Amino acid sequence: MSKRDYYEILGLEQGSSESEIKTAYRKKAMQYHPDRNPNNAEAEEKFKEATEAYEVLKDSEKRQMYDQYGHAGLGQGGGFGGAGMGGFNQFDLSDALRAFMRDFGGGGGGGGSPFDDIFGGGGRGRSNRGEDLRVRLNLTLEEITSGIERKLKVKRMIHCDTCDGSGVAAGSSKRTCPQCKGAGQVRTISRTFLGTVQQVTTCNMCRGQGEVIADPCKTCHGDGRHKGSTTVNVKVPAGVSSGNYMTIEGKGNAAPRRGETGDLVVIFDEKEHDNFTRHGDHVLYELPISFTKAALGGRLVVPTLHGDAELVIPSGTQSGKVLKLKGKGVPRLHRSGKGDQLVQITVWVPTKLSSQDKSLLEKLALSESFKPPETDRSFFQKLRDTLGV
Ligand SMILES: [Zn+2]
Ligand SMILES: [Zn+2]
Repeated sequence: MSKRDYYEILGLEQGSSESEIKTAYRKKAMQYHPDRNPNNAEAEEKFKEATEAYEVLKDSEKRQMYDQYGHAGLGQGGGFGGAGMGGFNQFDLSDALRAFMRDFGGGGGGGGSPFDDIFGGGGRGRSNRGEDLRVRLNLTLEEITSGIERKLKVKRMIHCDTCDGSGVAAGSSKRTCPQCKGAGQVRTISRTFLGTVQQVTTCNMCRGQGEVIADPCKTCHGDGRHKGSTTVNVKVPAGVSSGNYMTIEGKGNAAPRRGETGDLVVIFDEKEHDNFTRHGDHVLYELPISFTKAALGGRLVVPTLHGDAELVIPSGTQSGKVLKLKGKGVPRLHRSGKGDQLVQITVWVPTKLSSQDKSLLEKLALSESFKPPETDRSFFQKLRDTLGV
């Protein structure tokens, strides 16, 4: 069966404007909407067909492909080939209803549309999932650098073994929910711009299960889960930063009555370090050196995240100079290589001098080499002249 032309479906010409497309689709959608045509397979087909056409024509990129190459341009091939491709061949009623509600749902407030409960995917299964849990994990910069494995004790809702998650006491059974008569859903009538619309919502008495428990399990009080804790092994990769997280599937709260267990989300926090400040993959280390070391140069041993390392101080190093220890920073997350350790030098000026120190320094002060360079002063003088200060 070959597909009909999208313009023809909506009763349009090829050059139609966006607003004409919208108006034409709205008209067709209202006419064939399943709420106005209950149990009418033909109307449902027409509604889907019109929505599919609208979804293509309202999208300028898709429309262009369609105008140029027809259905083939949208990767639809011939009819119903290519099973499982997830393309338009799979366009079902819930897609169509969602598309319609998205553009014509009214109210606009972003809240769930009344149709989500009727046709939304998942239905019962989706509502019965345990909550995801979050824990924060504090890490030192050393732990971040090496990567660690940590055992975390997590308080969570766990599956009730007494009733195997059913919530039913031994020897007892479930009975049909009196409120929804086992349907798991209740119907209400509401008025919308489409006219009177039947709205279906999950039954609150049985939470959509269709059954209620006559004699609940004593351990879990019918919930099928109870408070407990689990030890979870967390492997933290090297190089994480504050705010990075990892998701451990199935270690969140167990679902009430045998649903899917939620996930555990572990969020990393970096502790402040006494010696190092982290800047991405680099770490900054401040190092005061003696005035003589700065003048003469030499070697010093400094701590790094990877153990002690030797730092070469060139002679004549000025205060504020930043020296680099390559590859002594934090490993790059999920990549090879490491950042650097940047060592910021401050030249420490002695504050207490013996009379011998003083006389030595006074002699040195007379030396030409101890005067700061002339060029620097003229530079600042020029700057002052320019600024007029
Ligand atoms: Zn139980
Ligand atoms: Zn019910």
